[in-house]
Amino acid sequence: MKIWKIIFISLIILAGMVLLLEIFSKIYKCEAIKVGPPSFICFESVLKPKQEKLLNDLRDKRLSGEKISKQEYWEAAKMLIFEVDPEKLGGYLNGIACSNYGYVRNDLPIEAKKFVMRHELEHLLQTGKERNREFSANFVSGKEYPLGLIQTIFFSIKNRVKYHNSSICYILSLWKTFKVYILPF
Ligand SMILES: [Zn+2]
Repeated sequence: MKIWKIIFISLIILAGMVLLLEIFSKIYKCEAIKVGPPSFICFESVLKPKQEKLLNDLRDKRLSGEKISKQEYWEAAKMLIFEVDPEKLGGYLNGIACSNYGYVRNDLPIEAKKFVMRHELEHLLQTGKERNREFSANFVSGKEYPLGLIQTIFFSIKNRVKYHNSSICYILSLWKTFKVYILPF
C-alpha cells in the first residue's frame, strides 16, 4: 500500500511540474537567443568522390534493409562529420547536419563527440518518414553510445547556461530541448 502511495504522489508532482513548465512556456516571454550557426557553414565543405560514394552506398544499404554494423557507421561518421571550433556552430549547438555531411564541435568529451557524430550521420541517412527526426536520431545513436548520450546531456546543460539571462528562460529552454530530443512525438 505504501509503495503505491509514493508512486501516486510522485506522479502528481511530476504532472504538476509538466503543467507548470507548459504554462510558463506559454506566458513567459523569453528573449530569443541566436542559436543558429552561421548558415554558410553548410556551404564550406565539398565532399571528395570517395566520401560521396561512401554516403551513397550507406544510403542504398539502408533502403534495401541490409544490416549495417556499429563499426561501419563509425567509419562513415569519421569520414562525413567534421570537427569544428564551437564558435562555428554559434557556440550553442553540439553539431549540425547539412545535406551530405555534418559538423561536430571539437570541445565535446570523447564519448559525447561519438554520440553527436553518429546523431548527425543518422540525419544524413534519414528518409523524411520519421515521426520525430531528432528523437529517432537520438534513439539509434543513444543505443550505440549510451555514455555519450548522458555526457552530451550534461555538457549541454552546463554549456547553455551562459546564453540565457534569466534562470526561468534557461529552464524553459531546457524543457523545450527535452521535448524535441527525448520525447518520441
Ligand atoms: Zn539532430
